Amino acid sequence: MVEEQHIPKQYRLGPNPGVTMPNGMGDFLLGSVVAGADGSRTVGQRRLGWAWYDNTENDLLRQLGCVKGNVVQHSLRGADIPTETLDNLSNKANQRWPQPWLAAIQHSIRTRNLVATPIAEYVPEVLVKERIALVGDAAHLPTPLTASGFNASLEDAATLADCMAKEIQGGDAVKALLQY
Ligand SMILES: Cc1cc2nc3c(=O)[nH]c(=O)nc-3n(C[C@H](O)[C@H](O)[C@H](O)COP(=O)(O)OP(=O)(O)OC[C@H]3O[C@@H](n4cnc5c(N)ncnc54)[C@H](O)[C@@H]3O)c2cc1C
Repeated sequence: MVEEQHIPKQYRLGPNPGVTMPNGMGDFLLGSVVAGADGSRTVGQRRLGWAWYDNTENDLLRQLGCVKGNVVQHSLRGADIPTETLDNLSNKANQRWPQPWLAAIQHSIRTRNLVATPIAEYVPEVLVKERIALVGDAAHLPTPLTASGFNASLEDAATLADCMAKEIQGGDAVKALLQY
């Protein structure tokens, strides 16, 4: 989260800019402008929030003990991110992100006001037992950071409906569930 006053005036967005999700190079950014700490929505007094979904630092997260095997242990505070990694991040940001997000990211990197959070997800091994099937969060709770749980749940429901529609005429519900 970056105070808008730290963003050069020419890059500041107008009123009610909403949320933006630009694509990078195999990665993407989530950017949103929110009210200032005092509730102000006046341009220049708001805050810019950004989250960069970077899939290139698995080795570093393991080296620093943030991830052991496939299990997340903890996040990495800005103060603990190696300077070389921050320099790389800054260069990559220059190649990827438009303003005002680039200015916000560079400010966060300069002040080390950022947190790296490992995201681990898993493929569930069992979704079905006899006439019972699990869908959505009950089957595979995704981390909120990916903002993908609702979509994943809808995909489950659609896939389940497809499988049932194909098999139900033959009357074999258990087979339909196994396909799902
Ligand atoms: C704070 C937050 C932010 C999120 N943001 C996003 C986002 O931006 N994008 C996104 O895609 N996903 C997001 N998600 C995830 C998304 O909301 C879930 O993945 C999705 O709602 C899962 O749907 P579901 O039907 O599996 O479970 P739920 O929506 O949890 O539905 C389960 C239902 O079962 C009911 N229930 C529980 N126990 C019983 C019982 N014993 N008897 C009867 N009913 C029962 C519950 O009351 C609930 O209504 C967010 C989740 C949270 C918590």
